[in-house]
Amino acid sequence: LVARMRGFGTTIFAEMSALAVQTGAINLGQGFPDTDGPASMLARAAEAIASGANQYPPGPGVPELRQAVSDHRRDHYGLAYDPGGEILVTVGATEAIAASVLALCEPGDEVIAFEPYYDSYAASIALAGARLVAVTLRPVEGRFTFDPAELRAAITPRTRAILVNSPHNPTGTVFTRDELTEIAGLCQEFGLTAITDEVYEHLTFDGAEHIPLATLPGMRERTVMISSAGKTFSVTGWKTGWICAPAPLVRAVQTVKQFLTFTSSAPWQLAVAHGLRHELDWVAGLRAELEGKRDRLMEGLRAAGFEVLKPLGTYFVQTDIRPLGHTDGLKLTRDLPALAGVVAIPTQVFYDHPERGSHFVRFAFCKKDEVIDEAVARLKVLG
Ligand code: PMP
Ligand code: GLN
Repeated sequence: LVARMRGFGTTIFAEMSALAVQTGAINLGQGFPDTDGPASMLARAAEAIASGANQYPPGPGVPELRQAVSDHRRDHYGLAYDPGGEILVTVGATEAIAASVLALCEPGDEVIAFEPYYDSYAASIALAGARLVAVTLRPVEGRFTFDPAELRAAITPRTRAILVNSPHNPTGTVFTRDELTEIAGLCQEFGLTAITDEVYEHLTFDGAEHIPLATLPGMRERTVMISSAGKTFSVTGWKTGWICAPAPLVRAVQTVKQFLTFTSSAPWQLAVAHGLRHELDWVAGLRAELEGKRDRLMEGLRAAGFEVLKPLGTYFVQTDIRPLGHTDGLKLTRDLPALAGVVAIPTQVFYDHPERGSHFVRFAFCKKDEVIDEAVARLKVLG
């Protein structure tokens, strides 16, 4: 393995899901739902296969999906993206992130990301030979946020881009307009490109509004906006994502994508286009359902003795394990299947400064109510 990828080993999601399978523990680790997406969308995928959508689709993505994404951005956010040159379909958000970083960062460039960060960011940045500079999100009155002075101080002459994930995995923070304005101001002052990971764009709670960074003044022209169908439609296995950006940025990312995967699977693209056109009410239902599951899991984790940090978006609840007498989340999550028959994710693996997150453990609530109930009942042994 090349030096720049040493240390990445196996992702925590694969490790923890394997542990769940081996031990039969309830898996509240890796974030994937245990129910299916909208029936008409699943049927559209089957129909697409049966009716011959089985050869290479166009490199940028099937026109139906690019048009549906364009219409969705316009209707939801008032953002205009030309399906002819400003939208690129990718193999999930993961490929979109990797291809964007590979296309836009020279070796030695720096990319800022907020820690704890989704694990593919560090790996994509390392693949590009660039350097991740982490700005830490810390809980302030129970909500993870950043210090604007720390963000400014992280910028150097080598800074090329900032990766912004909101709603944020793994903290559940939904950046406010003030926070985004701070980020946008620095992007413009220092000429940075923003790469935004908005895969949880529809999964916000308590009326929290997801605001795409590209909607802020002066930001559309310098933002690569990324999303994916996986979370919106409960089809994480379909690996269908997209970027929206000005044409020169899309061309750059497409140049890389061509040689990573050439194109993305055809049937899912047609089905996701159908979902974006016809199943947004289903998505609204999912969001309401998830809000209830979040409350259910939070209440159960509190009763089991965890300190719980309330998320306003995503699938995840952060807990502080210190009230239970633990300080090492990595050790606790490795022991948890044997101790309690539950799998969770140690948040510290998403930090460049692991000591800042060693006492946090992430639990997923995108599960059936009875699964959540059984997991929290089991976790009572910790108290
Ligand atoms: N970004 C974040 C923040 C995620 O949580 C995930 C996991 N779904 C991804 C990107 C990857 O998305 P996809 O499965 O579409 O590649
Ligand atoms: N996004 C999901 C999570 O954070 C799963 C990602 C993965 O398995 N790579 O749990």
